[in-house]
Amino acid sequence: MNTDTRVIMEPLEALQKYFGFDCFLDGQADVIENIVDGHDGLVVMPTGGGKSLCYQLPALCLNGVTVVVSPLIALMKDQVDALLSKGVAVTLINSSLSFEEQRDRLSRLKKGEYKLIYVAPERFKSTSFMDVMKEVKISLFAIDEAHCLSQWGHDFRPEYMKLGAALEALGKPQCVALTATATPVVRADILKVLRLTKPFETVSGFSRPNLSLSITPIEKVHQKFARIKKIVSEHKTGIIYCATRKRVEEVAEHLADKGVSCVAYHGGMSDGEREKTQNVFISKQVDVAVATNAFGMGIDRSDVRFVIHFEIPGSVEAYYQEAGRAGRDGESAVCELLFNYADTRTQEFFIEGVNPSYTTIAAVYQHLLNHADKEFELRQTLDEIKEGASVKNGMAVGAAIGALIRAGYVERFDIPQSRAKGTRLIQPNVLTRHLNIDRVALELKDKRDREKLHAMVELAYSKICRQKWILEYFGEPNASVCGTCDCCIDEDAADRKELSETENLIVRKALSGVARMSKKSGDKWEGVFGKGRIVQMLSGSKSQDIIRCRLDKLTTYGILSQQSTAFLNGLFRALLDTGLVCIQKKQFPLMTLSPLGEEVMIGTKKVSMIWPAGSLGSKSSVASAEVREVGFDDALYAKLREVRDSIAKKDKVPTYVVFSNQTLEHITRLKPRSEDAALKIKGIGSVKAERYLDLFLRVIKNHEMGL
Ligand code: ADP
Ligand code: ZN
Repeated sequence: MNTDTRVIMEPLEALQKYFGFDCFLDGQADVIENIVDGHDGLVVMPTGGGKSLCYQLPALCLNGVTVVVSPLIALMKDQVDALLSKGVAVTLINSSLSFEEQRDRLSRLKKGEYKLIYVAPERFKSTSFMDVMKEVKISLFAIDEAHCLSQWGHDFRPEYMKLGAALEALGKPQCVALTATATPVVRADILKVLRLTKPFETVSGFSRPNLSLSITPIEKVHQKFARIKKIVSEHKTGIIYCATRKRVEEVAEHLADKGVSCVAYHGGMSDGEREKTQNVFISKQVDVAVATNAFGMGIDRSDVRFVIHFEIPGSVEAYYQEAGRAGRDGESAVCELLFNYADTRTQEFFIEGVNPSYTTIAAVYQHLLNHADKEFELRQTLDEIKEGASVKNGMAVGAAIGALIRAGYVERFDIPQSRAKGTRLIQPNVLTRHLNIDRVALELKDKRDREKLHAMVELAYSKICRQKWILEYFGEPNASVCGTCDCCIDEDAADRKELSETENLIVRKALSGVARMSKKSGDKWEGVFGKGRIVQMLSGSKSQDIIRCRLDKLTTYGILSQQSTAFLNGLFRALLDTGLVCIQKKQFPLMTLSPLGEEVMIGTKKVSMIWPAGSLGSKSSVASAEVREVGFDDALYAKLREVRDSIAKKDKVPTYVVFSNQTLEHITRLKPRSEDAALKIKGIGSVKAERYLDLFLRVIKNHEMGL
């Protein structure tokens, strides 16, 4: 190829001439430069991020025709019409055209009359089409919605899998794949199937600077109600996502009781009802929608000021997509997740539901074999099959039938004069034990779904900038902190720092101590001991309690014995604040690892945290191993925190609005007895003193009297 004539127009010129835009959106310039330079690539941009321009513009700049593969005929037509109106020589070839029309377009394609053609992936099965393609000068091959070729994407399309071979047959023209799905697995799949040559990879445009994200730990449902009431009254227009239908109804009822008009939306409603509800919200007749994640694919209301997640969603992808429905108009908006770890159970239940085990599939199949009539048909509802086949998780029945359909063993049919569907055996002579179902794939999918949930839990416990965390999860490296999320606003954030090697090692030792003193069932950690006992074990205490529980026999016994107990106590406060360990309340508060803590322990993750004073062997504070830390009164500190936290809860403000951790530490050290003495402490002004101080002084007094 003659490189001199490859580029026939400068991108910026084409941008102005054809599109009337003056500059590129986030990420576009980089992608287009790479494409014009002749590289294969993978482009990840969120929906609306301006992906189409990334191949449309090079199409106009490069000599030859750009082939765009796109899965949806309707979208294809919209794009072609839009380009035609801009004076671009473009067409589409798909099954909606008559045979003559197709032949005509192919012959014009051969003559080089088009700069772009849009085709559906099935097209490449046609030999006549491939024959023409082999004769034309392809400048670029653009594969839109490329996640369709990954089994892990939400929209797998088998015909996409064959594109790798088609590219090969066409002599490997330059190829760029585009998608809005950024997960690493999907990206790896795309690269693998298409066999791209030294591809560039870009992820851009995911940042949403106008959103303030926060994740608030809230245990009780009634506290969640109080929180949504506050957000709704402050921000008026928004969406509350709930995990289940039942919860949607509860929340909607609760809001209605409080005089907030809202619509409820969930998958159990008929199509008609859903459409009506959606329209009521979109047309601004009502400003609050309470919905399951079935809501929102088509909602296009740009002035959404808040999105609340009443429970943790199943993945970071889902969370960010739903939260992202706020602030489409670019004005600021808030997104708050009301986080209670216990809610992950609901998501696990869903995961079990969409990923039936082989046993479940076999049980459902056996039930079909046993009860089908002589036409090999069974007219039972999913619920009846669930009962009959003794499957616990009702969702799993539908999913099991889905798996049987995909494997070609059964099909569904409409029962005449009824809205119900029946199930028909296609190969009734196949016995259950001869079912050929890909168990490995089933298990892998289940595992992936669990990993996605796990990542979401990790985000919830994390203390680093939410936006930065999410962007890095999506593969957008070096994102800067947003400055508006709960973690950024948290005033302690400024004191947080990355750990040195030595400090990191201390943290990992401490965490492995926690692990040794916890139980693990499945991938969940369960606390067995309280913090005090863990600290004793790590510091090599010879106390009776330690000996009696044989904790001195653990490999981690005494591994932090050169550190002071005061430091270790401080360290555990910091670990708790950073979300590396958590407290589970049984009869006593028991400490164990969080998912994030486990990763830090293994060494696959690093975190920033506020390093407590007084560690030995850590560069930052050997010299200043502050003397007064030795006497730091942890018990008092804990009591003060409790008072502070309960005030914050009562006033519904973040804890630091009452007193920051740092101020509480000062109070702990100085133990003021009077208001005057307290007023000398940094962080206590006269307003706060008047409002809260009494309670704290009383706690100090009682504490000193041994109460
Ligand atoms: P995607 O395919 O990623 O969902 P689109 O390609 O449809 O996104 O682009 C989204 C919107 O952004 C479109 O309205 C498009 O016209 C607009 N757009 C794309 N590039 C630019 C640009 N450089 N300047 C201004 N608007 C742009
Ligand atoms: Zn932030």
